[in-house]
Amino acid sequence: MKHFRDEDALVKKIARHFLPSRGGRLRLGIGDDAALWKPKPGFVGILTSDWFLEGSHFLREKHPPDSVGWKCLARASSDIAAMGGTPCCFLLNLALSDDATGKWLGGFLGGLRRAARSLDCVLAGGDTTRSKRILINVTVVGEIREGQELLRSGARPGDLLFGSGTLGEAEHGLQLLQKSRGRMSPKNLATRKHLYPEPRVELGRWLVEQKLGTAMMDISDGLSSDLPRMCAASGVGALIDPRKLPVLPGIPADSARQLALHGGDDYELLFSVASDHEERLPTMFRNLKLTRIGKITKGREVRMIGRDGRSKPLDAGGWDPFR
Ligand code: ADP
Ligand code: MG
Repeated sequence: MKHFRDEDALVKKIARHFLPSRGGRLRLGIGDDAALWKPKPGFVGILTSDWFLEGSHFLREKHPPDSVGWKCLARASSDIAAMGGTPCCFLLNLALSDDATGKWLGGFLGGLRRAARSLDCVLAGGDTTRSKRILINVTVVGEIREGQELLRSGARPGDLLFGSGTLGEAEHGLQLLQKSRGRMSPKNLATRKHLYPEPRVELGRWLVEQKLGTAMMDISDGLSSDLPRMCAASGVGALIDPRKLPVLPGIPADSARQLALHGGDDYELLFSVASDHEERLPTMFRNLKLTRIGKITKGREVRMIGRDGRSKPLDAGGWDPFR
């Protein structure tokens, strides 16, 4: 069933869910041909964009529309956090099926609005079209003081490797969701991190302000897939100690470790710190644990310490849409 007479009516509904541009640096939001945004002097823009597709990234019958709204902005903003930056505004590109323009859209916009408020990131515009399946693309514009940005390429041999929060929690939530019948309640705590991830914006910003990191990225596909990317960019290797990983409590140790090594969707930060700065890094940042999980090495291989105490290659086992 179609709920709107035309595209303009649909865009009006979307716009109504969000505050109009508040005379801030988003000089012009929805309504003209394009948005106008004024960067802060001395800052550079950070641009990133992320797909979120029905059937690949979420399932209509399993994921609450509210979670789809929250997560599409949260995961795109995580890439801004991974540079040490702050999200400012975003573009929402939506392709909706006719049966998604009613109740589903309402739930989606509710979750999206909560994420936008919580990140203080305003909707600047987007594009809307029709399709058989729901396709969502979010582009986030962020900013960072010029020269402060933390890249993947700065890790040096001898640096220590850290991860924030708990690893494997979102994947565990996804597994529970897959086993469940029907949609999971947004209130189910075990699936919370899969449904409502929280990009680590404050931590990223603090690390760059303190000049503590040498390299940083977010863990979106899983440690075993993402760490090799950081190593390749830096021209270094890494050695992980699986016994040190910040695993999910309350499940068998072996599965918890596998989830922490290969599970995706956590949106935690992975960062390296020069060894003589280790004491400056607290074990907690606000409510977030910071765990030393290994170190950067000279060889270009990513390895981990095995049960016998010897190191062995860590094979990428995380999420890859082409695998
Ligand atoms: P055009 O035909 O030039 O692409 P549109 O009619 O698509 O213009 O867009 C009109 C206005 O509505 C623009 O400001 C655009 O950014 C905004 N807009 C369209 N779709 C969305 C959306 N899904 N979310 C937010 N803003 C949107
Ligand atoms: Mg358009």
